[in-house]
Amino acid sequence: MKRFDAIIIGTGQAGPPLASRLSAAGKTVAIIERHKFGGTCVNTGCIPTKTLVASAYAMHVASRGAEYGFSVPGGVQVDIKRVKARKDEISGRSNRGVEQSLRGLKNCTVIQGHARFQSSRAVAVNDELLEADKIFINVGARASIPPLPGIRDVPLLTNSSMMDLDFVPEHLIIVGGSYVGLEFGQIYRRFGSEVTIVEMGPRLIGREDEDVSEAVHQILQAEGIQFRLNAKCISLAKHESGVAVRVDCKDGSPEVMGSHVLLAVGRIPNTQDLGLDQAGVATDERGYITVDDQLQTSAPGIWALGDCNGRGAFTHTSYNDFEIVADNLLSADHRRVSDRIQAYALYIDPPLGRCGMTDVEIRKSGRTALATKYPMVRVGRAFEKGETQGCIKITVDAQSKQILGAAILGTSGDEVIHVLLDVMYAKAPYTVVQRALHIHPTVAEYLPTVLSKLEPFA
Ligand SMILES: Cc1cc2nc3c(=O)[nH]c(=O)nc-3n(C[C@H](O)[C@H](O)[C@H](O)COP(=O)(O)OP(=O)(O)OC[C@H]3O[C@@H](n4cnc5c(N)ncnc54)[C@H](O)[C@@H]3O)c2cc1C
Repeated sequence: MKRFDAIIIGTGQAGPPLASRLSAAGKTVAIIERHKFGGTCVNTGCIPTKTLVASAYAMHVASRGAEYGFSVPGGVQVDIKRVKARKDEISGRSNRGVEQSLRGLKNCTVIQGHARFQSSRAVAVNDELLEADKIFINVGARASIPPLPGIRDVPLLTNSSMMDLDFVPEHLIIVGGSYVGLEFGQIYRRFGSEVTIVEMGPRLIGREDEDVSEAVHQILQAEGIQFRLNAKCISLAKHESGVAVRVDCKDGSPEVMGSHVLLAVGRIPNTQDLGLDQAGVATDERGYITVDDQLQTSAPGIWALGDCNGRGAFTHTSYNDFEIVADNLLSADHRRVSDRIQAYALYIDPPLGRCGMTDVEIRKSGRTALATKYPMVRVGRAFEKGETQGCIKITVDAQSKQILGAAILGTSGDEVIHVLLDVMYAKAPYTVVQRALHIHPTVAEYLPTVLSKLEPFA
């Protein structure tokens, strides 16, 4: 039995910075990783996919060379092995960086293996038993594989196995028209695949406002991605061309034939094989660890951070979980999950930056609100760049004048959204942005103009 002040299970986006803070505070820490250091974001999520987005974007711009005044002799062709090598290099650098920094920490023992609780104070890994009064779970999530008929009969791709592709699928069928599916769809369409996205719901990214979802649909459709919406009874079967996905949609052919199928229908937490019952750690019906506002689980002395607690599904929410836990424990700063404002981006091109409430949420809240929507085609910087797709949408509270929610679908939307997000955190009225002097020429310089066009929210 080895004793530590703290045990951390998993090296996702919260575990490593927490190990660093605890170590700096003079605590002894054991951190356990069963697979790749850095977890999903570093190895199979944000970082590698954003390198692919960057390659696909560069190709797309190059293919529009005539519009910008240049030509590419012989046309633009993907070299997928080099795209993959670039991805592997960038993702590998982060992976090695996480491992090296953990191994360099004072008082920190790095253990590779699968961790399982033996009690609320003890964790088994390999043949060792570790004990600590404080245990932090950062085990993340993985691609969900629902029991669709025929799912075991066909080779399936997930976001993880997509990372190993060193060829361009002839026809990639993506089951799932949400964030992960749309990003991969546009990437591979730009690399030259035929792409069909099959979505059970009546529209893409169903959590977003209908008009935003429709605009994204049109942008992707214009690039030649095919969609099958309302696919109620999805099943899979082998076919001579690869895979047949039966969609049973209202319109069109009941079957889509493709060479490969990527399943992007959500994530499930890595909590089944963790011995949580031995530790008295409760989960909800979907397996997410239930936590309070400071991320403590039902078992005293055990915290859950990142995707496994169901309170966020992003790198920034996981990192924020680390800050909340560390500040509560080490700085007596009583930070809470409920203080954070929802914010994220969808990394298609142009990107969608989102913060705060959606239209549906605002309607449900019963507030009196004012709203404004402005097309990117009227944003000078977008015009100059030749990237005029999308719009800026902002809704504010009519009484307090505080911003309630915003969506910026357009060039730099993932960056510009932070102007609004920070004003929301400051609980300042929108008039602060409206009266601010912004730099020309930028997308952000239009925010004051957009905010001067507020009208009653319907
Ligand atoms: C394709 C894709 C793209 C994404 N893009 C973005 C993006 O652009 N922006 C964004 O903010 N988010 C994005 N995400 C989400 C983001 O990757 C995750 O929210 C983020 O990685 C947070 O994860 P985490 O800290 O909860 O743990 P993870 O990063 O999932 O890490 C958990 C770690 O725990 C280890 N582990 C699990 N069980 C055990 C055990 N029993 N013992 C030991 N170790 C264990 C795992 O091996 C893993 O390394 C994307 C996700 C996907 C799938």
